[in-house]
Amino acid sequence: MPSVNNTIQLITREQAEQQGTHLIGKPGRAQESCDDDLAKGPWEFDLAEALAGTPGYGPGASNEDAAPAATPRQGQLPQEYKDASDEELTSRILAAKAELGDRVVVMGHFYQRDEVVRFADFLGDSFQLANAAKARSEAEAIVFCGVHFMAETADMLSGAHQSVILPNLAAGCSMADMADVPSVEACWAELEAFYGTEPDADGRVPVIPVTYMNSSAALKAFCGERGGIVCTSSNAATVLEWAYERGQRVLFFPDQHLGRNTAKAMGIPLEEMPLWNPRQPLGGNSEDVMRNAKVVLWQGFCSVHKRFTTAQIDQARADFPGVRVIVHPECPMEVVDAADESGSTDYILKAVAAAPDGTTFAIGTEINMVNRLAAQYPQHTIFCLDPVICPCSTMYRIHPGYLAWVLEGLVRGEVLNQITVPEATAVHARVALERMLAAKPRSAKERPERQAAAGAPGA
Ligand code: SF4
Repeated sequence: MPSVNNTIQLITREQAEQQGTHLIGKPGRAQESCDDDLAKGPWEFDLAEALAGTPGYGPGASNEDAAPAATPRQGQLPQEYKDASDEELTSRILAAKAELGDRVVVMGHFYQRDEVVRFADFLGDSFQLANAAKARSEAEAIVFCGVHFMAETADMLSGAHQSVILPNLAAGCSMADMADVPSVEACWAELEAFYGTEPDADGRVPVIPVTYMNSSAALKAFCGERGGIVCTSSNAATVLEWAYERGQRVLFFPDQHLGRNTAKAMGIPLEEMPLWNPRQPLGGNSEDVMRNAKVVLWQGFCSVHKRFTTAQIDQARADFPGVRVIVHPECPMEVVDAADESGSTDYILKAVAAAPDGTTFAIGTEINMVNRLAAQYPQHTIFCLDPVICPCSTMYRIHPGYLAWVLEGLVRGEVLNQITVPEATAVHARVALERMLAAKPRSAKERPERQAAAGAPGA
């Protein structure tokens, strides 16, 4: 099965011939990508952004998102890496890895392109990779083929003697960028002014801040300093339970969808989940609404998962009666509600691995991961719910050329593109991460009735 990137190259260069030809994705469907620019080298966008003086996310799902001015930019990749053929890059990467041996470990996120993932020593989600990095204490360098917040987490969890490298600094995350420290601090000040800071009779403070793993180290530190916690898409329900034991309500950022889907499954009514618009007083909500809030949802989203719709689910069910629809909890609520199941990348992987042969899956998550599952499990029919090939823009910014560049830099003794979280930030962020690790799911017996009945996504 061709990779996502090979398919994009083919349909961009030979679109006419490819009409009606199935390369990847749903059987029997013509292929199209969301942006012809995906066929170009990511360095073209590094250059365009440098010339324009404005950062951007490049082609793919986040292309239309506004990148903050402070978004890291990538300097120019040396020409030799742009000109190198795939074969040359492969042999240079393998040679550099062989020379470095155990001194380097390469991490590949599930959403990363196959052309990069094939050189990874570990493949996983952001937290699995950060923990894998921690376990490889002999590695002086951790090359993280994911996005910026993941490299930050790896830096905070790895040893002081280890350098974490992000091969392209422009590989950020548009969702993580939707919540920045000044906006969250301003929100927090408003919430404190509105709710006060005194605990209730049960000792629960007015608000507990909860940040999704997909956020900057500075926001994890913000939570650590204010009695808050980090969550992943696998443990969001457990983390919310932890928070409600200590607080009357939660400020959840940056992903509104994960927050809403999780809280809804716990039985919290939608009217108790106001959306916080950081550009409006009280987030654009009335005092009455805020008084009843159980979870205040930051107005952020993932542009990859926002693309999934209930119409796509209807179409999949019409085309493949009996299809099993699984979506990620970063998808909008109506999509999660219409799916058969929702869960983290790990949940999706395990569900596919455990299914009886011949199962048909329509999956609502990033296309590189779905395509890889389809290749790994040929006994099933597996396709992405989104009919258009539209990978994560920021994962796309890492190409084998950048991987070869940073690895050959290490061979010369040069650490390129190091991601370092200042210790003053890391110390607080680790507190929020450790709270998450210590949080244990309550048994169904302990939960209020409405929560136990609803269950939890992402489990
Ligand atoms: S898939 Fe979404 S949340 Fe994940 S890195 Fe890409 S933009 Fe960020």
